[in-house]
Amino acid sequence: MASLRRAKKRQLLRELSQVVNEDRENTAKMLAYMGEIDRRRLYLEDSYPSMFAMCTKQFGMSEAIAGKRIRASRAACRFPRILEMIRRGELHLSGVHQLAGHLTQENHEEVLQRAKHRSMREIEVLIAEISPQVDREPVLRELVMDGGDGTPGEDGFEGTVVSGPVPASSVKNLTIPLSPRRYRLHVTIGQQAKDALEELRDLLSHQIPDGDSAIVVEKALALLLAETKKRRSATVKKPRAKTKKSAKRTRVIPAHVWRSVFERDGGRCAFIDENGRRCGSAWQVELHHCVPYSREGPHSVENIQLRCRAHNQFEAELEFGEAFMAERRQSA
Ligand SMILES: [Zn+2]
Repeated sequence: MASLRRAKKRQLLRELSQVVNEDRENTAKMLAYMGEIDRRRLYLEDSYPSMFAMCTKQFGMSEAIAGKRIRASRAACRFPRILEMIRRGELHLSGVHQLAGHLTQENHEEVLQRAKHRSMREIEVLIAEISPQVDREPVLRELVMDGGDGTPGEDGFEGTVVSGPVPASSVKNLTIPLSPRRYRLHVTIGQQAKDALEELRDLLSHQIPDGDSAIVVEKALALLLAETKKRRSATVKKPRAKTKKSAKRTRVIPAHVWRSVFERDGGRCAFIDENGRRCGSAWQVELHHCVPYSREGPHSVENIQLRCRAHNQFEAELEFGEAFMAERRQSA
């Protein structure tokens, strides 16, 4: 790069133009690859619960960029012309991202034509025209406690929503670090929650004389966490004595098995890919029978592991076939 210091003006301009062209070419290529990997859900085999997790963890993309690219790649899968436009520099990634939710089979030819060489501001005006009924306010998202592990913390993506198996807004995206171990939490709550917060402040006014809502929220979270953990991992102080084996097989998994599996796997998906990398997502974890229940697999700690929902479905599809599982989901 030091040689750039001595390069002539013409050379610099020419070479930058080349680099920009290559960048467009590569962006189009990247979206095509991402779209196909996403469509086939190949990230699952590689221990990632979502395309979003693969992009951020394996490829080091920021949450916002990953979200934008995933959304654009999905739009490009539906309307391949988008890739050609990006390649030619007629449409930028942010524009595709913005337009994605407004393109239909009927309107895409015309809308894409009109979006050619437009700035973001102009594209926003175009969208307001084609979808006037759409609320253009930033999407308000509800608090989703996903532990920020790159599962449904779907969108730190600048107030947009990406559909499909990508994370809903993660706690990371809702909190702003203020100082070590102090955060500001941004959430939108309903009337009922607001009333509850006020009532709790009053009821706790002896304990919390300055009426600090943050302390009320902290206490409420601690209570909910303890209760949820108790239910989820069946964490009871004294495990009940194991009941005698009944002759009849049942789908109900005994609490002590639940508890042991949950503790052993640390509450996280234990799917391991070919390279020995573990998924580790804590989002929507479920119990997975290594030898399926329907194939006489026992409800034992040895036979059961935790899986995120994406990997549980993935393995069920490997075991029973994609068509069979799709049918079962539909009938459910
Ligand atoms: Zn997983």
